[in-house]
Amino acid sequence: MKPDVIVVGAGLAGLVATHELVQAGRSVLVLDQENRNNLGGQAFWSLGGLFLVDSPEQRRMGIKDSYELALQDWLGSAGFDRLEDEDVWPRRWAEAYVQFAAGEKRDYLRALGLRFVPLVGWAERGSGSATGHGNSVPRFHLTWGTGPEVVRIFQEPVLAGEAQGKVEFGFRHRVDELVVEDGAVVGVRGALLVPDGSERGVSSSREIADGFELRAPAVIVTSGGIGHNFDLIRANWPVERLGPAPEHLISGVPEHVDGRMLAITERAGGRIVNKDRMWHYTEGIHNWDPIWPTHAIRIIPGPSSLWFDATGRRLPAPNFPGFDSLGTLKEILSTGYDYSWFVLTQSIIEKEFALSGSEQNPDITSKDLKFLLQSRLAKGAPGPVEKFKEYGEDFVVADTLEQLVTGMNTLAQGRGPQLDVSTIEHQIVARDRELDNDFSKDLQLMAVNNARQSRTDKLVRVAKPHKILDPAHGPLIAVRLNILTRKTLGGLQTDLEARVLDADGSPVPGLYAAGEVAGFGGGGVHGYNALEGTFLGGCIFSGRAAGRALSR
Ligand SMILES: Cc1cc2nc3c(=O)[nH]c(=O)nc-3n(C[C@H](O)[C@H](O)[C@H](O)COP(=O)(O)OP(=O)(O)OC[C@H]3O[C@@H](n4cnc5c(N)ncnc54)[C@H](O)[C@@H]3O)c2cc1C
Repeated sequence: MKPDVIVVGAGLAGLVATHELVQAGRSVLVLDQENRNNLGGQAFWSLGGLFLVDSPEQRRMGIKDSYELALQDWLGSAGFDRLEDEDVWPRRWAEAYVQFAAGEKRDYLRALGLRFVPLVGWAERGSGSATGHGNSVPRFHLTWGTGPEVVRIFQEPVLAGEAQGKVEFGFRHRVDELVVEDGAVVGVRGALLVPDGSERGVSSSREIADGFELRAPAVIVTSGGIGHNFDLIRANWPVERLGPAPEHLISGVPEHVDGRMLAITERAGGRIVNKDRMWHYTEGIHNWDPIWPTHAIRIIPGPSSLWFDATGRRLPAPNFPGFDSLGTLKEILSTGYDYSWFVLTQSIIEKEFALSGSEQNPDITSKDLKFLLQSRLAKGAPGPVEKFKEYGEDFVVADTLEQLVTGMNTLAQGRGPQLDVSTIEHQIVARDRELDNDFSKDLQLMAVNNARQSRTDKLVRVAKPHKILDPAHGPLIAVRLNILTRKTLGGLQTDLEARVLDADGSPVPGLYAAGEVAGFGGGGVHGYNALEGTFLGGCIFSGRAAGRALSR
């Protein structure tokens, strides 16, 4: 094949761009360093949460949303403060993306066969002010079928294109260099890695069998972020904003999310911006059944668990579970330790612990309604959560607070201070007393009561307020929360046509980028903070822009 376009990276952004190109009759060569089992990249593992604005699903839940409110939230979260330079294009992408989410996005996805779970979730509830960070209303639309379904709707037409000879895949092709001639990108060079039949997500061999050079009039880089490259994360860590980089990191993404293509693209003239902006989570637990090295799972928590830092001090407002990821990260790191604790009850875990990841939600991933009802309505937490409670190294379960703190202290050995049971007890009892009236001065309890005004939260996400030390809601549970790496917010600077720009702001001829490597559009469409469900959508929006630009 003499391709019109080479796509580097067969994750979601690469598949979306390829899909658009194939629809327009172009021929595409898709290269990926992994094998065919990994088609779809990170998106396969994702929960499939998608940010939509003023959708029929929201309206059915009584939620009033609008483009204006969503843009207010986006800009309040992004905090773009480099508008003369690095944020010029991210700011434009932000407006275009919120418009997409409030308009065309839902129909575009539905036309390809995607459907949503009718209950809309409320992620990243924010830092406590209307103009600041956070979602004013629930906007997290869960895909019926989670991440694999998001991949399927683009993968199927792309594989049909392959059957018709319009698409060719080069798996185990690791790109190490972009070929530049007369200032234009005209192809790629790299290493053909030895065949490796590993299962999806499992680390594969980096042994080289041969080299390759392939050419096309245009190259789209869709190689993902830096989430599994702890060296790059530490090198770019914003110490002055968040405090020193954590010593102990665990990874929410497979090993192929190595960030190598960023420097490779920079060498070909592309500019990387907003390197210091990243999106990591504070609620990471070690996977008891890991697929990739240091495999971490994120708890997506409801708001009721009590959150203590490593020294046993309750985190100050508004660092409540599920509110402000980076604000909480800063607070945790300010202690000099890199972990924190949830203390909760069995009643809270049953209603409020969701685990991010397609494999942690087999009922929704398999689109099996009967299984879903059985697993979510039965006594106990959903099966995958109960398994973590039983086998997870970060969990302590006990009938009394004394036993619980003893268990926490065993886990803390070697990583942080020993906790004093009376200090923890004092704070829990004080919080529990605030429940004697329907009103309270405890801001977290106010937030819980507020959340229960939202229908989804009341139905499936927020436990009825109760005293943590009430044995009727036991046993008590403590979870050691680690810092989990996930998303790269900065990246290659691109204009709205997904053309990669150079240091002077001019497009590098023949070079395009989309998805996480491009900061989900523009080199950082999220600014400093994300509203969640915006990453898959950012890959779809920017991948579509790249594909359409090259179809004209
Ligand atoms: C567990 C989990 C849950 C998530 N949940 C959500 C969610 O609910 N909502 C949401 O919006 N987002 C979510 N995300 C984030 C989202 O899935 C990712 O940001 C997105 O899928 C990234 O897609 P991408 O195409 O940009 O990159 P990737 O998926 O990383 O794909 C990049 C591909 O490029 C290949 N590659 C890299 N370098 C080279 C090279 N040099 N040569 C050849 N190939 C190369 C890689 O092997 C890979 O296949 C989640 C992510 C994870 C892991």
